[in-house]
Amino acid sequence: MKRSLAGIAILAVVAGLLYYAAGRREVELHQREFFVMGTLVSITIADTDRATALRAMEAAEEDFRYMDRTWNPWKPSALRRINQLLASTEWFSVAPSVEPLIRDSMELYERSGGLFNPAVGGLVALWGFNRDEPPTTPPPREAIGDLVARAPSMADIEFDGIRIRSRNAAVQLDFGAFAKGRAVRIVTDLLLEMGIRNAIVNAGGDLRAIGRRGDRPWRIAIRRPSGEGYLAVLETRGDESIFTSGDYERWFEYQGRRYHHILDPRTGYPAEGVSSVTVVHGDAGLADAAATALFVAGPEKWPETARAMGVEQVMVVGSDGTVYMTPAMAERIRFEEEPPRVVIRSP
Ligand code: AMP
Ligand code: MG
Repeated sequence: MKRSLAGIAILAVVAGLLYYAAGRREVELHQREFFVMGTLVSITIADTDRATALRAMEAAEEDFRYMDRTWNPWKPSALRRINQLLASTEWFSVAPSVEPLIRDSMELYERSGGLFNPAVGGLVALWGFNRDEPPTTPPPREAIGDLVARAPSMADIEFDGIRIRSRNAAVQLDFGAFAKGRAVRIVTDLLLEMGIRNAIVNAGGDLRAIGRRGDRPWRIAIRRPSGEGYLAVLETRGDESIFTSGDYERWFEYQGRRYHHILDPRTGYPAEGVSSVTVVHGDAGLADAAATALFVAGPEKWPETARAMGVEQVMVVGSDGTVYMTPAMAERIRFEEEPPRVVIRSP
């Protein structure tokens, strides 16, 4: 539930920014909102006739719902069946609706140095972050240690044509860090194919924007990790995706400590030192995966991971409020209020 509320909060901000000063050319916007992948998705289309926009938004929603059903490891789905078969360590034919996600995740896993690791589904389930309601207590230390020792990783997966197997029975796929980005990419590609040139596909604050909003760029608000309102604003250029991973999306408190949903595969515990990571990139799927990987990399090591994953525009908000940025991000971001400490680091 926390995640959806955060989504609504940022959408409200974005929507507020969409209605802009009088005196400029009026832009006709078409908008559709629906709840999918545990978040509120909003599609906004500009400079398109009503009939085309409505057709496109309907098709987009249908595709989103299909991907949600297919890629959800915790409900009856193609992915859940794949997880059952991976646990057998035997060869089997992989569903074509999931295959590209697995292949691309294997590459992103390598590039992230193992920090983006969708094979940690077992760990996600152990923590209870796979349920609608957040958990209330951390799992036993021994159970976490046992699973980390079995080291499930994307490198355990082998392909032979369309057949696949895992050498490690502990591998359970959870694309929570990647599927939303991939879905946003696919749905925006669909809009482009239907002739739409100016639009935003926004999944709870993570989005891809194409074209412009009439005579000016789309303006995107980035949520403040702690507290209300937004931290900064970006104006998009052409075709860009902006994805944020934050410790405020799914979390619980136990005995005075906060535990969130982004897990460090090396320790089995929530990654420490960072509150949020925002990545801007041309590929929404890569932006999504990289935001998660950089979060796990932490406030010191994130530039190395950014370089390895090929992302140049990054903003990291440390747990102490320090804002770290790459030069390419610093050059374009506008803060609502100057952060207490800013550190510029090249990837
Ligand atoms: P995101 O909000 O994109 O950072 O994705 C977080 C979600 O991805 C979590 O809710 C888990 O389902 C999953 N996840 C957690 N830790 C990792 C990790 N290190 N690598 C890949 N997926 C993860
Ligand atoms: Mg992610």
